[in-house]
Amino acid sequence: MAKIGWIGLGNMGIPMSQNLVKAGHEVFVWNRTKSKADGVVAVGAKWVDTPKAAAEAGDFVFTMVADGPTLHAVSLEKDGLVAGLSSGKIIVDMSTVSVEDSAKINKEVEAKGCKFLRAPVTGSTMMAASAALGILASGDREAYEKALSVFQCLGARHFYLGGGEEARVMKLSLNLMIATTMQMQAEAVVMAEKAGLNVAQVCEIIANSAVGSPLTGYKKVPISTGDYKPAFSVKLMIKDLKLAEEVGAQYGVKLESTSLTRNRLELASEKGYGEMDFSVLTKLLEEESKYTR
Ligand code: NAP
Repeated sequence: MAKIGWIGLGNMGIPMSQNLVKAGHEVFVWNRTKSKADGVVAVGAKWVDTPKAAAEAGDFVFTMVADGPTLHAVSLEKDGLVAGLSSGKIIVDMSTVSVEDSAKINKEVEAKGCKFLRAPVTGSTMMAASAALGILASGDREAYEKALSVFQCLGARHFYLGGGEEARVMKLSLNLMIATTMQMQAEAVVMAEKAGLNVAQVCEIIANSAVGSPLTGYKKVPISTGDYKPAFSVKLMIKDLKLAEEVGAQYGVKLESTSLTRNRLELASEKGYGEMDFSVLTKLLEEESKYTR
């Protein structure tokens, strides 16, 4: 069993780190808001006071934080994880961040004689809780092989994509499909319910149709009940779509439905829905269409 430093206990980091503890690993956790560690410490993790201490304690150091600027803060500040590294450690970032932010951290980590794996995940909080995430990895192949036994505790599907930043791009490709699917579902649902159909039945049929997917299955209940507590927030999805648009622009690829969906999410955020689940796109369209359930 491994010694693991874990930095970031948000909606994803909590269940993921709990699964590592339950699998028997020795896990040292840090989060900006200490109270969020309570449920992880309760199952056996040890609290440490800084990201640096998490890096000192672990042979592997995992980060699961909001975005690139946060990854920089927890990595590069005075008490950041890089300050706690000694040669031979493996750092694994599972957050969704840009290629540029990722490459900067890689440089700092390599300067300490350590390896940096990019390992963003597919799947939401429910899949994190049931250790059913997909892991998209790139970076040093040998480090990847060593990390596999830990990845196994987070999900059974792992993909090695290459020696550099490939996993970052794959994650953005997936997320643009996830976001645009929710915009399509919003349009389908609101048109049908305004024409008099029952929303629960509409969502059930979509989930079991040719366009049905794990995503349309998970979102049946939130959309039918109007319960948009965040599995994945509007705010974070806007961040991911902006990153995807940057990659599209870099390679001269038009991402029109991605941009449209990002605009819709920004409207939702302006209405105060930024912390809600991104499936709140349905509620936004209901309101604009003057439809009340
Ligand atoms: P979240 O619930 O918003 O948690 C964000 C984490 O980042 C928290 O630990 C938060 O600390 C920390 N953080 C934010 N700003 C910080 C700062 N300035 N300094 C230090 N720590 C800071 O996000 P999440 O849903 O767990 O997502 C984490 C990452 O996984 C994101 O990159 C997201 O895009 C990606 N992801 C999410 C999902 C999903 O379904 N949720 C799925 C796949 C990938 P506090 O607790 O102190 O706020």
